[in-house]
Amino acid sequence: MRKPEQSTDSRGWHPTRLLLILAVWLISAGNLPLWQALWRLPETTGARGWIGALAYGLLALALLVPLLCLTVWPRWLKPAGLLLMTVATASSYFMLSYGVVIDPTMIANVFNTDAREVRDLLSWHMPGALIAGVILPGIWWWRQPVRRVGMRALLAHQLGVAALACVLGAGTVWLAFQDIASIMRNHKELRYMTNPLNSLYAVARVALGSTQRAAAAAQSVGADAHVARANRPDPAAAPLIVLVIGETARAANFSLGGYARETNPELAALQAAGALVYFGNVRSCGTNTHASLPCMFSHLGKTAFEASRARHENLLDVLQHAGLAVLWVDNQSGCKGLCDSVPNAFTRTLDVPGLCPDGECYDEVMLHGLDERLAALDPARRARGVVVVMHQMGSHGPAYYRRSPPTFKHFLPECTSSALQECPRDQLINAYDNTLRYTDHFLAETVKWLQAKPQPAAMIYVSDHGESLGESGLYLHGMPYAMAPDEQTRVPMLVWLSAQMQRAGGVTPDCLRGEAAKPWSHDNLFHSVLGIAGVQTESYRRPLDLFAACLPAPH
Ligand SMILES: [Zn+2]
Repeated sequence: MRKPEQSTDSRGWHPTRLLLILAVWLISAGNLPLWQALWRLPETTGARGWIGALAYGLLALALLVPLLCLTVWPRWLKPAGLLLMTVATASSYFMLSYGVVIDPTMIANVFNTDAREVRDLLSWHMPGALIAGVILPGIWWWRQPVRRVGMRALLAHQLGVAALACVLGAGTVWLAFQDIASIMRNHKELRYMTNPLNSLYAVARVALGSTQRAAAAAQSVGADAHVARANRPDPAAAPLIVLVIGETARAANFSLGGYARETNPELAALQAAGALVYFGNVRSCGTNTHASLPCMFSHLGKTAFEASRARHENLLDVLQHAGLAVLWVDNQSGCKGLCDSVPNAFTRTLDVPGLCPDGECYDEVMLHGLDERLAALDPARRARGVVVVMHQMGSHGPAYYRRSPPTFKHFLPECTSSALQECPRDQLINAYDNTLRYTDHFLAETVKWLQAKPQPAAMIYVSDHGESLGESGLYLHGMPYAMAPDEQTRVPMLVWLSAQMQRAGGVTPDCLRGEAAKPWSHDNLFHSVLGIAGVQTESYRRPLDLFAACLPAPH
């Protein structure tokens, strides 16, 4: 590093110099996962590889130093240093523990997480990481005396150092362009691993995006929606549709999709009885809840949804426009704004005997009192049809073992730690598979509840995203979509139709089975729910409706 001037004197450090020490600390000690990842790259075996890795580190430093020089003034030098150490340590901890990287959707997830989810993520390694990464260096940092420097001299210093860093960066790129370019081209995940630049970038993106979206009122969608008479020959046959949004269930571990262990025994029985169809080739919109949920309820589809800066009304709003009764029941961290304009209920913190140990409820709690919740909805709307969304806790990690009741511990022994890398992999998979076994039961119970109803009934289940269970050292989910493995983006989806529904709607499981192997995605959910609910609107796209091939021809 270039020294901006001679070192400390009796009156303490020059603030710019202390800032440089902070930058060097953050890029070196604050980036253990990055260095570990660089060490493991095939490119970094020879000396040339090491030049590339070193050059990458220098480039990161050359980016960080101007950023700090232009924003951190002596007045907030100390707290800013502590904050950055905390950010770098926390993100290093999560990267090392779960193989995740820090990108804008991950940060959006962090802002939308609640205390219970945080509790699940922490393990006894966390205090150790905080001591080594924040408390010990923090004490040293806080005790350093800082020299008073005049404003003009300080400005000259900070600008000068920032300029030097830019020269250093440009020189590094010039000298080692080939090596840096090949590392960055082939390993895009590295840029999401570079502390604290990854977090700063992601926070800025999220803040910018959410203020832009919040400033705009939601644009109306499907204001013309209405129940199509042609699809509803019998007006008394108003449908009851349950949409179950699964959590963290991956298609790879569904026995309905060919997984060797019996994770879906009750659903398999329904399938054998002929009323259930499993879709084995379905992609999620995102790799985390916060990205997938708004996208799957949007009429836009993944590509247009992600490109759009505007907020739009969602599927539930359109169903309301059509005059249907809508209810959102949530056993997780909330509906991400989707249910703001429809009746909703939160069941996660209820206290139902047998279903809610440790201050958190199993998914069956959503069926508890559901009849009463429905009875409270507008009767005129109910007469046109009812759509209930149930948002599961499902297989939410890393504390999988908390998600299945004792009677569903079919695969043992199971991992009972949140530090997933500590558990033997088969125990981790046992704990995860038990959650799917319980989801199997919950869905079958939902079907039982529907079977007892007089009206035509349907259940659509789809998971929000998948999960990594240690494949290639990855855990949990939330990888940037383009580099996410199949385990995180291939999700289970299934449809169950009551006998009345098959008669009233004209959709038969036999016909649907012909569609089951085709590639579907979250893009199809909006249009399929409108299709099965018999709702017509300009925003409906028949080619995206997975029931379309089995519905009566449009007029
Ligand atoms: Zn999720």
